[in-house]
Amino acid sequence: MFTLLLGGLSLAGTLQVDVLDVGQGDSILIQTPSGKSILIDAGTGGTDVAPLLRARGVEQLSMMIATHPHADHIGGLDEVLMEIPVRSYFDSGLTHTTASYTNLMTIVESKADAEETRYFTAEAGFQTELEDGLTLEFLGPPLPSLSGTRSDLNSNSVITRLTHGSQCFLFTGDAEEPTEALLLQRGIEPCNVLKVAHHGSAHSTTDRWLAAIQPEIALISVGEGNRYKHPAPDTVARLTAAGADIYRTDLHGTIHLESDGETVTITTERIAADVADGGLSSLPDGHSITVEVAHTPAAAPPDPSGLININKASAAQLDELPGIGPSKAAAIIDYRSKMGAFTTIEQLDNVPGIGPATMAKLRSLVTL
Ligand SMILES: [Zn+2]
Repeated sequence: MFTLLLGGLSLAGTLQVDVLDVGQGDSILIQTPSGKSILIDAGTGGTDVAPLLRARGVEQLSMMIATHPHADHIGGLDEVLMEIPVRSYFDSGLTHTTASYTNLMTIVESKADAEETRYFTAEAGFQTELEDGLTLEFLGPPLPSLSGTRSDLNSNSVITRLTHGSQCFLFTGDAEEPTEALLLQRGIEPCNVLKVAHHGSAHSTTDRWLAAIQPEIALISVGEGNRYKHPAPDTVARLTAAGADIYRTDLHGTIHLESDGETVTITTERIAADVADGGLSSLPDGHSITVEVAHTPAAAPPDPSGLININKASAAQLDELPGIGPSKAAAIIDYRSKMGAFTTIEQLDNVPGIGPATMAKLRSLVTL
């Protein structure tokens, strides 16, 4: 089901995930149906995350997860720790020499000494049922730690997988290709919502990884005009080719996802003009329209008539129609998400790239 709505309502009893717009860095807030809060990273500290948490009703954090000790992930954690009670703090166990790391650990240690916060090293294999129907699992850092990689701090990021009913969220920190290869070797299940590793860098998100994960929704936390030129155009192209819908904090602002265990609804702060092409522009700041796109977890089962339902079909199913390649399949999904469900088959004619000749081939093969 795809809908276009104005405004946004939060439903009680749902899982909520916010990929906060903190510029170049990561900060992700998870709020469980029963009201527990988990924070993964807090950006550089350039954006104060604590008020963003309070605005979302967070009074304490059950878990704070520092994926790895780079400043664009841990830089803001000290402020949050000082302002909001944190029950358990998890990190990758790897240390760093920077002031942002040592300052943070001084606070973590003093909170641990005061028995306000428990300190844990995350390990792959840890799994806990947070509440009914909601499981949290660490897939990284691997044991033993990866060493001799391009960035061992990145490679040993805490990787968190959250399973809510039929929905799955995978938060990968800044893990790179060696971590992906190791997880593939160990065997990894598909996961429909992927927080793309390392801000969409070229060193992560391989085709093999995407073939295994099969993400439908790709979240990229990245600063506008960042000096690393993240996300890499090749990575964006790989995600698009894999059929994922891409959401980026530099273009969409904060990305809010809400899961009822069967469907994920996405609300973005801004509408991005053209994400599929690597994000050429976004609407002006202050544009307050909200898009909600409801994603069903898997491709709809084939219609018994054998027809492809243009409101429900996945990119892969659309791709198989005559005259529709991957780019037109993506255009149909894009159109559907921006304009709402098709109410007539003839509206396909409005999708960029679909003209009368393609329409003639499609008419007898599709349904609503
Ligand atoms: Zn980073």
